[in-house]
Amino acid sequence: MVEANSPQQVWEAALGELQLQVNKANYDTWLKKTTGLTYQDNELVVGVPNTFVAEYLDRNQRSLIEKVLTGLLHREIEVEFRVEASQPGTFLSYGRLGRAGAQQASLPLFNPKYTFDSFVKGQCNQLAYAAAQTVVQNPGQSYNPLFIYGGAGLGKTHLLQAIGHTALVNNMKVLYASAEQYTNELMAALRERKTQEFSDKYRSAEMLLVDDVQFFSGKNKTAENFFHTFDELHNASRQIALTSDCPPQAIPLLSERLRSCFEWGLVTEIQPPNFETRLAILQDKAKQDGVNVSLDVLELIARQIQQNIRALEGSLNRVIAYAKLVRAMLTPEIAAHALKDIAGSGPRPALLTPGLILETVARSFQLTLADLTGKKRDKETTLARRLAMYLIRQETNCSLAQIGQELGGRDAAAVTNACKKVTGDIDASPYLRRKIGDIQQTINPTKG
Ligand code: ADP
Ligand code: MG
Repeated sequence: MVEANSPQQVWEAALGELQLQVNKANYDTWLKKTTGLTYQDNELVVGVPNTFVAEYLDRNQRSLIEKVLTGLLHREIEVEFRVEASQPGTFLSYGRLGRAGAQQASLPLFNPKYTFDSFVKGQCNQLAYAAAQTVVQNPGQSYNPLFIYGGAGLGKTHLLQAIGHTALVNNMKVLYASAEQYTNELMAALRERKTQEFSDKYRSAEMLLVDDVQFFSGKNKTAENFFHTFDELHNASRQIALTSDCPPQAIPLLSERLRSCFEWGLVTEIQPPNFETRLAILQDKAKQDGVNVSLDVLELIARQIQQNIRALEGSLNRVIAYAKLVRAMLTPEIAAHALKDIAGSGPRPALLTPGLILETVARSFQLTLADLTGKKRDKETTLARRLAMYLIRQETNCSLAQIGQELGGRDAAAVTNACKKVTGDIDASPYLRRKIGDIQQTINPTKG
């Protein structure tokens, strides 16, 4: 409980509490540089470094902050975020919603969701993520340029904008454009004889972020212009970060010198996410959207949708919408139904049932179904059971728990262990490979 108090004290106490409630990155980015300004009539005014932070806190953390304050002061508190104009070098006009006006047209329009906080890390993207963080911490000092490449929907734009968000918070003058926007803007400038303005704008940036530079391919005039912008900023140690759908050497029809510029700093790839990361992304997304989706359902989606993260998010939305539409509980069956069309065009036709696989495995080992699902523990039966679990995992959308059920009520951990064991043994054992291959041929003759 905080007694009758100065705004500074109140806010300090709240910050102490907030530090426990949000993660460190979040705290450091959005809350650390704030101060208590005034506290009157149940209203606390909090000073923030720029409009961008004000906007973010207002939109994303107001309710948490008010809850914390109400808890501390034992009454309803409203909070207002106010930009403290005293900070030198503030580029208000570059803030996302900077109301300073004149340069409105050139404000970077970042997607508020594309922050470091909401970016789920996994094996597929950890290097790119770490590099992006390094770049915002030491702009112009470490990797310049940072070049991130990878397939569609894997998070390149998200990371690039996360860099931009954080740089804006740090009051840097950030310019963000897709290569296509850059091209269109340049063409317009040429038409209207405003190339000087165009150059001035880009060359005054403290940080330049350009998305999808593969678009410069074959556009000689724009690429040439971009080379000069790049060169000038780079010489002045201004940070540049770029994304592309392929590495520099694979961008066709690009001048050698621009290509080599792209390779000067760090070139890093984002790969497609593995199952665990897909699942983590879905869990995160469901949480953000405030919907309760069971692990079974999330696993089903993560298994079925493998191409990219955009498709993953789309599928989750689709499943939720479908369940609402038919007014049904969101069960794996309903989810499977909602995803049917997508699955049809996907890599794995979901025709196989656990029952069919169990039968095939049993026959292949000359066992009965009862053996497979029962308690026998001799070597043959154990191996057959393990393969059955592995194959059901591979070939169907069943969750670990469901597989355990199919195998006579075993638990999910047993299934995990079995799958791990098979995956580990498969390389060393030609017998095992052949056996699996044979069974797969039987259950899915169209495959391979
Ligand atoms: P790209 O630019 O590579 O085509 P995007 O950055 O547009 O892909 O990402 C597509 C969608 O997937 C976006 O909604 C983005 O927020 C989401 N996304 C991508 N990677 C991640 C991640 N690691 N964590 C959370 N969401 C992600
Ligand atoms: Mg993109």
